[in-house]
Amino acid sequence: MKGGHSHAPRRSTPDVLIVGSGPAGSALAILLRRRGWSVTMLERAFHPRPKACGECVNPGGVRALSRLGLLDSILALRPARLEGWYLRTAEGHQVDTRFRMEDGFGLGLPRADLDAALVGEAVRHGARLHEGVTVRAIESQRGPAPTSGSGGGPQQLAVVTREADGHSACRTAPLIVGADGLRSVVARAINRTDPVPLRRKVSITCRLSGSGPTRRSGLLWMGGFGTIGLAPVHADRQLWNGTVVVDSARWGRSLAGRPLEFFQEAFTTAGLGWDSEPMVLEGPWCSGPFDVPRRRAVSDGVLLVGDAAGYYDPLTGQGIYRALLSAELAAPVIDRALRRAGGRRPSGGPPPPLSRASLAPYEARLHRAFRVGRGIQRVIEGVVSRRRVRGLVFGGLQLVPAVGDALIRLTGDVATPYSLLNPALRTRGGPVEPTITPGR
Ligand SMILES: Cc1cc2nc3c(=O)[nH]c(=O)nc-3n(C[C@H](O)[C@H](O)[C@H](O)COP(=O)(O)OP(=O)(O)OC[C@H]3O[C@@H](n4cnc5c(N)ncnc54)[C@H](O)[C@@H]3O)c2cc1C
Repeated sequence: MKGGHSHAPRRSTPDVLIVGSGPAGSALAILLRRRGWSVTMLERAFHPRPKACGECVNPGGVRALSRLGLLDSILALRPARLEGWYLRTAEGHQVDTRFRMEDGFGLGLPRADLDAALVGEAVRHGARLHEGVTVRAIESQRGPAPTSGSGGGPQQLAVVTREADGHSACRTAPLIVGADGLRSVVARAINRTDPVPLRRKVSITCRLSGSGPTRRSGLLWMGGFGTIGLAPVHADRQLWNGTVVVDSARWGRSLAGRPLEFFQEAFTTAGLGWDSEPMVLEGPWCSGPFDVPRRRAVSDGVLLVGDAAGYYDPLTGQGIYRALLSAELAAPVIDRALRRAGGRRPSGGPPPPLSRASLAPYEARLHRAFRVGRGIQRVIEGVVSRRRVRGLVFGGLQLVPAVGDALIRLTGDVATPYSLLNPALRTRGGPVEPTITPGR
């Protein structure tokens, strides 16, 4: 965090200032408003805005939307229902996996629509949203003195912004939440050093129209140059998300300056089996690298949710679930911390930042919730990117398809890793998995 510049402070001080209004920021705003706290959200873009994403909400994410009471409004947008993933490799393996659970299905829908619906709910719940406001830094500064002539007030944290009208301003709150995604300014402020990504992948996403190759599932193709995800994003299954992910060290040059051509060549090489040539309607949207581990998710007066708290890789498409779950994990901890701090508000002056100690239970819960999943993501990435290993594993999955179903439930965040050890899963239509729910 930088020290001490002075900017004109904004007048009203909310309890929580959330930077970013993607799924993590909006879900947290809703949960905090329900607990009665005042929330202001600062968003660089204007909704509805596109986001580089495979645009699939996995079954765990669907359950999280349901817990938040938002599923009906999302279903009203007519998303595609996804019953599993059709896995294909360049070497010709094909594994048709299914979630095979009563309430286990994923959804495909444009991120612009999903995120606009979530932020709309946050505003309906009473959160204040300021769009076109870019947070540039977090500063530590002295607050105004409680009484005149008594010197500087207590130390405070403030976000320095470029407002929609182009002017600089600073805003303060007892808690600043970084929900500002992969390249989080807030996360950089509390993690001091920028993480060095171990893997340098880049993605190219386009919106496609046409009659795609799958009926009830998304399709994941894995080959020499990388992976391709293809998923319907509307119930009529004429609108698709195509996402190509490649190693930038290897393919960066051929991609540079011509992402759309690269995207189209990748699709042609993979030969995904469209009835007729798909049309590119929107994009390309590019993103990467992704592997952004974060050591700290809390500090004095600061807490991170969603991608800002750490991200690995788009391959297993779990980011929206994690964004929503991190908000669910954070809300009760913030609630408790704000209640405890309530008595310490200096008379007349703005409240001091929440202490790191009061926010620490969230960091512990977050690490517990995602640690094993992160390890599994790395194993899957290791398998998919090595031709021989990929061949062996997919050969095995073709022979025992129930294991493929179990894996897809695991990456769908509706089963624990230990469920892979449960022999009952080796038969199709096995027992419903224990659901992973956020701690209270
Ligand atoms: C190629 C790709 C494919 C993916 N596919 C899937 C998938 O199919 N399924 C899935 O579940 N996940 C997928 N993910 C991951 C998913 O997109 C993210 O995990 C998810 O969007 C995280 O949500 P978030 O709210 O943390 O961040 P975001 O959705 O990134 O939202 C952050 C918000 O903060 C705003 N912001 C950023 N910086 C500032 C700033 N300085 N000031 C103010 N506002 C700011 C941004 O404008 C944005 O609105 C994919 C990711 C990529 C890159």
